Amino acid sequence: MPKDIAATADESARLGEAVNPTPGGRPAARDDILRVEDLRVAYRIGDREVDAVRGVNLSVGRGEVVAIVGESGSGKSTVAQSIMNLLAPNAEVTGGRIEFDGEDLIPLSERRWRSIRGRLIGLVPQDPALSLNPVRRVGVQVAEPLLVHGLATKHDAHDRAVELLEMAGLTYPAERAKQYPHQFSGGMKQRALIAGALAAQPSLIIADEPTSALDVTVQKQILDHLANLTQELGTAILLITHDLGMAAERADRVVVMKQGEIVDSGPAAQVMTAPTHEYTRKLIAAAPRLSA
Ligand code: ADP
Ligand code: MG
Repeated sequence: MPKDIAATADESARLGEAVNPTPGGRPAARDDILRVEDLRVAYRIGDREVDAVRGVNLSVGRGEVVAIVGESGSGKSTVAQSIMNLLAPNAEVTGGRIEFDGEDLIPLSERRWRSIRGRLIGLVPQDPALSLNPVRRVGVQVAEPLLVHGLATKHDAHDRAVELLEMAGLTYPAERAKQYPHQFSGGMKQRALIAGALAAQPSLIIADEPTSALDVTVQKQILDHLANLTQELGTAILLITHDLGMAAERADRVVVMKQGEIVDSGPAAQVMTAPTHEYTRKLIAAAPRLSA
């Protein structure tokens, strides 16, 4: 059960008092869990600076699914990494504000960050093959956020890992928890990573191309499962994908990025049927499921 339900009413009342701009082309919402305002990020390459994110505004409401769509290199991962404070060492946030649950994230210390990452904001990484430690049992890795944040004892964490693996759709979860990543298929690994991301019941999950390494059938199963779990728990999702068809299918609202900027945004159906930017029309034409 979502343990933070009780806090939600209070928090939205508090947020509702503040008069804030409403990024992302959406009517005033009282209950944003995430707000990104005029975010700017640059990479240093030798003595050159490359502006990878150039003034991005977006917001995610509690329990809402928002997709960032754009072709490779448009800056999607840079936005996600900024929100998690996991940018590459040669990257710098050169402007803007990232507010999570009313707190400005950019000035936070790494110590405070460690208490947020995995507990309040969960991350489902892109490549399951690279994201699990090959020499540690899967159950231990799934339970890690619970131990790191002191949310469970070692014994309870193990039981919880088995429950989480079962929730994530794995059969024989107790046996699976004792196995190592090489004994899992790609889809099973991604399910385990989703289980880990949800372990601490964060209020926001960032999923950066979470199924791009999987085949289409497994992709659909995994995304269905993620949707069911997060709906039950009231978790918001920032879903990052280059696939506009997937975004339209999965998200309440879609934000289209091109060369570090947002060129289109709105409710998924609206962006699909009435795109305002030529680039969005190109993405629609290129998405096999949509043109069919
Ligand atoms: P996307 O996730 O949409 O494919 P990225 O956020 O990864 O886009 O990249 C945005 C831009 O920033 C691209 O031009 C990319 O080449 C550049 N970039 C990303 N990471 C780095 C890095 N570590 N150093 C230099 N440039 C980078
Ligand atoms: Mg990326």
